[in-house]
Amino acid sequence: MNCRPACAACCIAPSISSAIPGMPHGKPAGARCVQLDADDRCLLFGRPQRPAVCASLAPSAEMCGSSREQAMAWITQLERATR
Ligand code: SF4
Ligand code: SF4
Repeated sequence: MNCRPACAACCIAPSISSAIPGMPHGKPAGARCVQLDADDRCLLFGRPQRPAVCASLAPSAEMCGSSREQAMAWITQLERATR
């Protein structure tokens, strides 16, 4: 499946342990990544500074669901289960 425009659930809901430009210690779960622009697009897309974990994450029906709310809920649940 394709990534849904203006979603960004996977840039907000999960924790990211690797450094992100502007977030040197990574990102806590539920925090909006500082690299999201006003349209919820990654400012680092296609650039070497983008964390490998971000580049390796592919959209899936299971994770993304049919709305941002569903994706937020699924990722948050996974985050809690793996904390
Ligand atoms: S949760 Fe899925 S649809 Fe939403 S931004 Fe991430 S990959 Fe795209
Ligand atoms: S670096 Fe880009 S892809 Fe990774 S969490 Fe931040 S906005 Fe999302």
